Amino acid sequence: MSTEKLIEGFRNFRETTFEKNREKYRELATKGQQPKVLIIGCSDSRASPSLVLGALPGEIFQARNIANIVPAYTTNPGPRSIGAVVEFAVKILKVKDIIVKGHARCGGVEALVNHASELPTTEYLKPWVEVAAPARNKFPANFAELPPDEQRLQAELAVVLNSIANLKTYPWVDAAMSAGELTLHGWHFDFATGTLLRFDETVKKWVEVEVPPENGAETEAPASQSAPG
Ligand SMILES: [Zn+2]
Repeated sequence: MSTEKLIEGFRNFRETTFEKNREKYRELATKGQQPKVLIIGCSDSRASPSLVLGALPGEIFQARNIANIVPAYTTNPGPRSIGAVVEFAVKILKVKDIIVKGHARCGGVEALVNHASELPTTEYLKPWVEVAAPARNKFPANFAELPPDEQRLQAELAVVLNSIANLKTYPWVDAAMSAGELTLHGWHFDFATGTLLRFDETVKKWVEVEVPPENGAETEAPASQSAPG
């Protein structure tokens, strides 16, 4: 997409979405943002949370990086963007939910699986995806025998669960969860099939989210994915 096309897109946005939500934007400018959910997603161009989830301005706080990875808590953080986003979301915005949203055909997860062997000249990519190395321990026992598509999916699901496990290591995330003020969610979006999975903490399985045709409570299809690990 060229920059000219992007400017065309902006014109379109200004004439439609912005015009329709003019009051909303003005209110957000004067009162500030109060999103109640943080979504940690992948940088992938095919998995935009706002687009996929139909969020309005001011509704979701986001962090996106290669493979939706959250490093574990450290007392010596240095300039770490993901930690700053989570901290702002939890301490200042006091979000009620954090969703780690993985996606299908994730190149970052593939690099983790292949130890970035297909990207030998990269400098930043390998050390970044290696942050999620413990996710390899969450792969199913028969991972090596699985067909490539299933391997990819299982690795993507494992990386989401690894990021959730790491989120729990942040003391203020843990405190907010213990106080019943914060819930963590693992989701996975397949843009090839339009499928959204979520990890059900009660049964420890990935289940498909079935979206009813009109606004209403979500229902679930029978579990089709077993929990990795
Ligand atoms: Zn990705």
